[in-house]
Amino acid sequence: MSDSCLFCRIAAGDIPAEIVYSTDSVVAFRDLNPQAPTHVLVIPREHHANIGELGASDPTLAGDLIAAAAVVAEREGLGEGWRLVFNTGPAAGQTVFHAHGHVLGGRSLTWPPG
Ligand code: AMP
Ligand code: ZN
Repeated sequence: MSDSCLFCRIAAGDIPAEIVYSTDSVVAFRDLNPQAPTHVLVIPREHHANIGELGASDPTLAGDLIAAAAVVAEREGLGEGWRLVFNTGPAAGQTVFHAHGHVLGGRSLTWPPG
């Protein structure tokens, strides 16, 4: 847990968030600035800088995160389709350097995303 990391602080309960699902290893909460009717962030409780680092250092935890994303999608009623996005690095739009997957759905999602 890093006091300077926003998502570590959300996982610890120090900063409020609308939590929709949590387990011993991951937490899912609504994005403050939603890009779709459903926009939930899924994070590991443990600090990892991005999904690449997480997958390399703890593949089981990376799997937990993906499984949690699927539970969130199911609970949110996204059976028609949903997207799991991991922005990785500043050039890809990552702004919070604690690994997180964006679960997006509830509207038509075009591909490629642009
Ligand atoms: P990224 O740009 O991939 O690093 O995603 C970071 C996401 O975190 C953005 O979609 C933000 O809207 C979201 N965000 C930032 N601060 C908060 C917060 N306190 N609670 C919920 N979502 C947040
Ligand atoms: Zn963190």
